[in-house]
Amino acid sequence: HSKKDGRNTYHFFRPGMNAITVKRLFIESHLHQALKENEIFLNFQPKFDMVTGEVCGAEALVRWHEPSLGLVHPSEFVPVAQSCGLIVPIGQWVLHETCRQLQAWRNEGIDIVPVAVNISTVELCNKKFLESIIEILDDTGLEAHFLELEFTESSLMHDAKASLTMLESLHQLGLTLTIDNFGVGPSSISYLQRFPIDTVNIDQSFVHDMPHDADAITIVKAIIQLAKTLDLRVTAKGIETREHYKLLLSQQCEGGQGFLFSPPLAADDFRKFLVRDKMHGSIGFIAQNNRK
Ligand code: C2E
Ligand code: MG
Ligand code: MG
Repeated sequence: HSKKDGRNTYHFFRPGMNAITVKRLFIESHLHQALKENEIFLNFQPKFDMVTGEVCGAEALVRWHEPSLGLVHPSEFVPVAQSCGLIVPIGQWVLHETCRQLQAWRNEGIDIVPVAVNISTVELCNKKFLESIIEILDDTGLEAHFLELEFTESSLMHDAKASLTMLESLHQLGLTLTIDNFGVGPSSISYLQRFPIDTVNIDQSFVHDMPHDADAITIVKAIIQLAKTLDLRVTAKGIETREHYKLLLSQQCEGGQGFLFSPPLAADDFRKFLVRDKMHGSIGFIAQNNRK
């Protein structure tokens, strides 16, 4: 350990601090360097049309490889980044990298799909957010509809009036807009109708509880019905078993994502996925399932 590290360590460890606090402080002090040091990268988790088995989209998920901690998951560093404001530059990087990567694949002749980026409350409330989206699309040359943004209900409800204005501008640009983790936040059905939303993502907690919990099944059915009534697409998240998949399909839920189909993939593996999907038409597992 260098002298500098020693000082930091002294700073971190005070009597009474638990391991979680120590790790959080470590994360906070090292996150500042993460972008500069190229330690941040993206995974892509495909989303499927569960009827045809085709890849119909993906979600970009941020990852941080910190040299001494190893792989740090967003559940650990995104909340820290939100509270110290670093989520803005990190989010900008995620947006730019997603668009750059998609356009690069497109230039290779690959049939690309819309990719969703998670947007946190701090980013949505940033005055320069809209401007930055326009700049990123302009800089990368990506067509707007290939960029999907996922917002949570709580971030939209934080300032519902400002969110409505923002979403209308983003919709006018041609972006795909999605409400993520639907059902767990402060839902307002009237806003669901007023916001120019394209898709609703069913939170994975409902999908997880579905097979054995009658309430979860009822909620999932209600969300699907609500979405259809409002003419929104619906994507179920966290599909882990064939039972989940069959139940969702029987409720006419077409979109799906989860470990059953694919985990989040490194960029190059997702690229192979897109190329293979184009060549063979669909994911064999789903196609087979529906032929039976
Ligand atoms: P999310 O948007 O709900 O993302 C889905 C999370 O569920 C991902 O975790 C994904 O790896 C995980 N997942 C996918 N399929 C399954 C499944 O079948 N079962 C289970 N149990 N989990 C599944 P991850 O990558 O750790 O991301 C966690 C959260 O961090 C995300 O939740 C999102 O809210 C946030 N996040 C990730 N990337 C970004 C980003 O670039 N910006 C912001 N602001 N937030 C991000
Ligand atoms: Mg998401
Ligand atoms: Mg989505």
